[in-house]
Amino acid sequence: MEDYEFGTPALTRRQRKIATKSDRTRAQWNVLCQWFDTDVSAEDREPDRIDWLRALPFLGMHAGCLAVIWVGTSPVALGVAIALYAIRMFAITAFYHRYFSHRTFRTSRAVQFLFALIGASSVQRGPLWWAAHHRHHHRHSDTEADPHSPGHRGFLWSHIGWFLTPRNFRTDLARVPDFAGFPELRWLDRYDIAVPAVLAVGLFALGALLERTAPALGTSGAQMLVWGFLVSTVVLFHATFTINSLAHRFGSRPYATRDDSRNNALLALITFGEGWHNNHHFFPGTARQGFRWWEIDLTWYLLNVLAAFGLVRDMKPVPAWVAAKKDR
Ligand SMILES: [Zn+2]
Ligand SMILES: [Zn+2]
Repeated sequence: MEDYEFGTPALTRRQRKIATKSDRTRAQWNVLCQWFDTDVSAEDREPDRIDWLRALPFLGMHAGCLAVIWVGTSPVALGVAIALYAIRMFAITAFYHRYFSHRTFRTSRAVQFLFALIGASSVQRGPLWWAAHHRHHHRHSDTEADPHSPGHRGFLWSHIGWFLTPRNFRTDLARVPDFAGFPELRWLDRYDIAVPAVLAVGLFALGALLERTAPALGTSGAQMLVWGFLVSTVVLFHATFTINSLAHRFGSRPYATRDDSRNNALLALITFGEGWHNNHHFFPGTARQGFRWWEIDLTWYLLNVLAAFGLVRDMKPVPAWVAAKKDR
């Protein structure tokens, strides 16, 4: 029996070493494949440890921002960066969050896809991944099971650690059964690098075209890529994830929710309304997160504009009893 393990002949130490090495190489190859196809299995990776190989593109985007030193700047490149921040922040807050995660309004399949596409260009993965994890966050807010509670695993983990681990790479479709049946959303989720790559290439091409046709603008392909894609996306990224980290730490708590969510006006401004996070945890079932007139909620205003054009409908309002209630 000693010579057999689980019915196969026991390996010599050297054979075992070679086998471990080839296992490791295969696991690393799988991770590289996951950059392009998230359906590739990652079961052989440690579930709760940051997977640095998988995280390389994310780290590379940050490092790439340093290239502003070499590419310089121009009003047109800055304008594109700001515009892309704004439209993608809206897609994330209005659609990834208030629509896909919480279903607080209705829309057509075409508009649903359009904003899923814009959201996907934010490099925050596909809408199904985003919504599945966010629903899990609401169900287990600030408990051990919360994927990103600053109270349990610290600020850095809640801000940029949790989504770099194999456990959180996968999308649990059971949490989003209402949207998992749309093949176009499944595609965006599976090939989540595709839309960001198209945006990056498109921005480079735009910059190169402007350099030739309108040299007075002072831009170039590399400059447009660095400002329009890298800087804009990285800033957007950190702004979004302050809601997981800072908005569960700093701010007021008008509602005595069971989690540690906060209302924070500054975060509400940079995230177009998401900073009213204690409001949101108290009553997630409304398309509006600024419950009082002075709680600025840009996403809510813009959703009303879309509603006026008939692009979205049935936006769930803040019930009167919720607006009137205040625990402290
Ligand atoms: Zn939260
Ligand atoms: Zn939410």
